[in-house]
Amino acid sequence: MSTQPFPDSPLSLWLETFGDYQPQPELKEHITVDVAVIGGGFTGVATAHELKKADPALNVALVEAKTVGYGASGRNGSFAMTVVGLGFGVTAMLRGKDYLQRAHRYMMQAVDGLEELIRTESLNCDMIRPGFLRAATTPAYIKRIQHDVKLMNDLGFDDIYWISQDEVRQKVNSDKYLGAMYEPRLLLINPAKLVRAERDLALRRGVQVYENTPVVTITSTPKFTITTPRGSITAEKVVFATNGYSHLFPQMKRKQIPAFTYMIATEQLSDEQLADIGWQNYEGVEDGRNLIHYYRLTPDNRIVLGGGPVGLTWGNSLYGDSDEAAWKHLEEHLMWLFPSLKKHVKITHRWGGPFSVTVNLSPALGYIGADKRAVYSVGCIGHGVSMSHRNGQALTDLILERESELLECPFVNPTVIPWPPEPLRMMTAGALRGYLQLEDWWYEREIS
Ligand SMILES: Cc1cc2nc3c(=O)[nH]c(=O)nc-3n(C[C@H](O)[C@H](O)[C@H](O)COP(=O)(O)OP(=O)(O)OC[C@H]3O[C@@H](n4cnc5c(N)ncnc54)[C@H](O)[C@@H]3O)c2cc1C
Repeated sequence: MSTQPFPDSPLSLWLETFGDYQPQPELKEHITVDVAVIGGGFTGVATAHELKKADPALNVALVEAKTVGYGASGRNGSFAMTVVGLGFGVTAMLRGKDYLQRAHRYMMQAVDGLEELIRTESLNCDMIRPGFLRAATTPAYIKRIQHDVKLMNDLGFDDIYWISQDEVRQKVNSDKYLGAMYEPRLLLINPAKLVRAERDLALRRGVQVYENTPVVTITSTPKFTITTPRGSITAEKVVFATNGYSHLFPQMKRKQIPAFTYMIATEQLSDEQLADIGWQNYEGVEDGRNLIHYYRLTPDNRIVLGGGPVGLTWGNSLYGDSDEAAWKHLEEHLMWLFPSLKKHVKITHRWGGPFSVTVNLSPALGYIGADKRAVYSVGCIGHGVSMSHRNGQALTDLILERESELLECPFVNPTVIPWPPEPLRMMTAGALRGYLQLEDWWYEREIS
């Protein structure tokens, strides 16, 4: 593998405002460990600190190609939520109601477990629990979202309900809202602060962390030998926590592909601007599309908005983090939602990043083939903030080969449909994206 697949991308609001960050040193020697974790995002740091919690005697090393939080975990929309894949209705359609019910239970615990971790370990990450709105912006979306509410209520989840146009506008005042699904179970965090606070937790528990250390090759016999530009690791077991970058490893090549989502952040809104918009409770908002728009107000009153157009890259390329057309779309969407901001608010940050997509749009984690010494996690799509933490616990159970209720989750050890090689891969992903866009157009054709 080349050591140069990691572009220097535009920094997210979270990374750019993080302040002084002290990376851990690069690996420059040979070390021997029980478990090597590759990847310093939420999945990697959570697995590393959970492993040490479960067995403090384990010798665990975590290696990150750039700095902790470089990937999706330092760039995301900051929503830690219960949603899996493209939402409740789509998940039920693709995988069935039983799958949705089991997945939703896992995700409820993922959100609650993350909140407990943040509180118990005093992880400084600006966490709030403000409630989630899925806002309908056309009559067609009202039907779609109300269908999702009924679906979840019929499955026994009665904390998800429909609120009227008046009620949603009292929360966030956009005249585009026609009603919304409300779910109280949502955390908003500062993702760069969280992932780096978890790195520090891992360090406190005794994990060796190496940053600016891209893994170049991995061989597996008799033990794992992991090479990096200036060092190497011998490990009994390996965790691939490399998400949208996983296809760079031959062992993981067909399990997932990266797709790219884009975000913008405004300057701090003035009191007058806020007076127009309301949003006093800081709810997280998504719309009803397949290729959702997602947005929130930060503690210092900037709007952070992402979603809409999704980027794809050819083969192993990870150069999809910037897209002027996508950022323009997001600015226009922001002004469409809140016309009072037009011309008066500056966009201060524009960024993007890869998320991991499996062929059937479902998360997958488990053993790599028959070899119980190596585990992986991919396919959280745009909803991996809470999930990656619960997955970190499940990966811990898999590595320790211990039974747990977590392993009954349908994401664990599924049959993963392989992505085909190029050019079929691009054709398949493009067709899937085209279908999702077409359906969004159909639901939006009544937009004025
Ligand atoms: C712009 C954006 C917005 C999003 N918004 C949300 C949201 O609001 N809510 C939500 O739930 N989810 C969201 N997601 C998805 C969520 O961020 C991810 O699912 C989650 O962060 C995945 O964590 P991870 O640790 O698995 O992967 P990552 O954070 O991507 O970490 C993988 C790490 O592996 C490292 N790595 C890769 N290859 C190597 C190598 N060879 N050697 C060493 N290290 C390597 C990478 O540098 C990277 O740091 C968003 C994603 C993006 C991109």
